[in-house]
Amino acid sequence: MRLVIGKPLGFCFGVKRAIDKLEAALKDYGKVYALGSPIHNEEEVKRLISLGLELVEEVEELPESSVVFIRAHGTTPEILEKAREKGCTIIDGTCPSVKNAQEKARLLSQEGYEVIVVGDPKHPEVQSIKGCTSGRASVVSSSRDIAGFPSRDKIGVVSQTTQEEGTLLSVVSVLLRKARELRAYNTICKATLHRQETVRKLAAETEGIIVIGGRNSTNTAKLVEVGKREGSDVLWITKPDEIDKSWLENKHIIGIAAGASTPDWLINDVINSLSSR
Ligand code: SF4
Repeated sequence: MRLVIGKPLGFCFGVKRAIDKLEAALKDYGKVYALGSPIHNEEEVKRLISLGLELVEEVEELPESSVVFIRAHGTTPEILEKAREKGCTIIDGTCPSVKNAQEKARLLSQEGYEVIVVGDPKHPEVQSIKGCTSGRASVVSSSRDIAGFPSRDKIGVVSQTTQEEGTLLSVVSVLLRKARELRAYNTICKATLHRQETVRKLAAETEGIIVIGGRNSTNTAKLVEVGKREGSDVLWITKPDEIDKSWLENKHIIGIAAGASTPDWLINDVINSLSSR
């Protein structure tokens, strides 16, 4: 069996930067709280908990004057303010690309545009972007969602950073007919696009692709979707013991891809496990 390792693979610069900051804070303070899961990878979260990380869901659960980590997806200005009021030390791991989408949404809102965020309304990053418009932005996940959207003078668009470019383009083209003035920012992150391109190449070169990443990772789910759309036989695993023997049967060339939130140590574990078969 030959393995074709996709490149780029695993942690993007935003996740790496955030996890480096979190690890440094754990070393300095011993105990650090995270609002929600710091990364969409269950195995990496377990490792960070073993180093002193504690997860809380709501800002109200943070102890006074504690150290709180803001994940790469960012958070809303309202939550940041509440944490500051509690005297918390804030370790801001918000990815610069997410900050850019937040700033663009804030700017559009301040300039009187009806803001539309193209993304998953439940995703924390989308909620953080929406929060920068004081909650006024509408979130749509496809052009179907704006079929009944009323016409406006000024419409502004930003995107979830992990969105597929085709979805953003189709939303913008429908909105062109609904606004006298349309301003759209392409806030899709190149790291995501590059990983999707890698999967397209692997689909053409291999007999099947193993995608490694958390079940709650949107960008990993997108890689699986892209691979399947390209006609590849895709196996999505979160760790080595999920490699299905029957899936491997009769496959001689296998591609390896991983989401932007999958750590190197986990990718290496999968590669070592496959190499030893
Ligand atoms: S995928 Fe892009 S936007 Fe998201 S954390 Fe990574 S670098 Fe930042």
